[in-house]
Amino acid sequence: MDRLFDGVLRFKRHEYERHEARFRGLGRRQNPHTLFIGCADSRIVPNLITSTLPGELFTVRNIANIVPPYRLTGEYVSTTSAVEYALGVLKIENIVVCGHSNCGGCGALWDEETLREAPHTRRWLELAARARERVLAHARGRPLPEGERALLTERYNVLEQLRHLLTYPGVKERFRARSLKVFGWHYEIDSGEVSAYDPGEKAFVKIG
Ligand SMILES: [Zn+2]
Repeated sequence: MDRLFDGVLRFKRHEYERHEARFRGLGRRQNPHTLFIGCADSRIVPNLITSTLPGELFTVRNIANIVPPYRLTGEYVSTTSAVEYALGVLKIENIVVCGHSNCGGCGALWDEETLREAPHTRRWLELAARARERVLAHARGRPLPEGERALLTERYNVLEQLRHLLTYPGVKERFRARSLKVFGWHYEIDSGEVSAYDPGEKAFVKIG
């Protein structure tokens, strides 16, 4: 734990000092331009990979960067509330759904044994099950190398979550009216590369 406490002190002395004026301004309100939906994985740091500062990204992170389809419910729903709030209250201009390499959540779609002790996670990942089906359809019965299967699952999952995102009334309307941009990304942890889905090409294309 010392590492965290020391880190807090270092943050105050260095990063805070460096951006003090910005932090003081942000102390009163936020005006983020983008809703970033990423995986809860410890290796994903949205501000780091987009070179953005505090106040720019309204961020939701959960296992396997999932967006539950829109529905009215009496349950306490975290991701759905965050999408609703980002659109209705913060009036964000962009939404990024970002998957990543070596995603444990996507991997578990192929190995349910890993989730024997995690029934809620297993249930949560049902929202990504279509990605697995699409990989199987793509493979047409031939066995895929593990790396290729993982990459395809992660990318199909991003597309599946974009599909869910477009079931939200606010998203659908603003996307059609072109006042909201929606992006599907895949981040490669070991190379630092990010690929973005190009609907024209129907493929993920490396940024840069
Ligand atoms: Zn992940």
